[in-house]
Amino acid sequence: MSSKMKVIQSIEEMVALTKSDLWSGTIGFVPTMGALHRGHISLAEYARKECDIVVMSIYLNPTQFGPNEDLDNYPKTLKADLDKAEKAGVDYVFTPTSKMMYPDGFKSWVNVEGITDILCGAKRPNHFRGVTTIVSKLMNIVSPDLMYMGEKDYQQIAVLNTMISDLNFRTVIRPCPIIRESDNLAMSSRNAYLNEDERIRARVLYQSLQKARTLYKQGTADPEILRKSMQELIQLHAGKIDYIEFVDRNTLDKKETADDNTRVIIAVFIGSTRLIDNMDLV
Ligand code: AMP
Repeated sequence: MSSKMKVIQSIEEMVALTKSDLWSGTIGFVPTMGALHRGHISLAEYARKECDIVVMSIYLNPTQFGPNEDLDNYPKTLKADLDKAEKAGVDYVFTPTSKMMYPDGFKSWVNVEGITDILCGAKRPNHFRGVTTIVSKLMNIVSPDLMYMGEKDYQQIAVLNTMISDLNFRTVIRPCPIIRESDNLAMSSRNAYLNEDERIRARVLYQSLQKARTLYKQGTADPEILRKSMQELIQLHAGKIDYIEFVDRNTLDKKETADDNTRVIIAVFIGSTRLIDNMDLV
């Protein structure tokens, strides 16, 4: 594609583009909520390598936030985001408003059952309904062949894969690895909420995942024993555990005994900031 990135603000303009002659070849799509960091940028870079046209959306989707969550405080850095997107080789950035995405009279929701009732879904009611609805809308507007998503939000990928399969969307998700800070904290827009002390304590998420992995490799396969050792470490750093779960990496079903297909997924409050992370045991 051409070198100059374009910002598209309206749904009509975006849809018109997908139907124009400009729009040929493989379309790669990177949905984001902005406050871009290297995790987001890595997705755009994977898309750039594989696709003819790379589209990123920057839209802070209110319907995936709970009433007492951080929607109002979520960092907004649009100008810097656009610079970063352009450097990463994005061709089009789609920046709709909530008035466009949820106009008066909006009544339709996409809901995936079961797999949204566990892990983050159990702790954040309606979160995944917001995610599946907005991603359905974005896929209809952008018509991507490939959609790049981070394994940082591991359950989100599983939920969206279920939706894509059940509802016959033609887009294929490309799961991309978790990008971390130099001390291994998973990059997240929410890391900006951490003060200096919390930022150091937040290292315990990765450390606890590593501990479970090490114990598993040494022969411990009982999830209760693995969980307990993680709990002790997290509590030592004054983290408040939201959940620690050992699940099948494909189905997200809970594991009675850990094995090589097990993924450990955690959510931990450091101060008032809720952070998530996950890792395979092998
Ligand atoms: P968000 O802006 O939080 O909705 O995230 C947009 C996309 O970036 C999602 O697919 C996330 O999984 C992905 N993402 C966020 N943080 C990371 C990270 N540290 N590494 C890789 N992907 C990430």
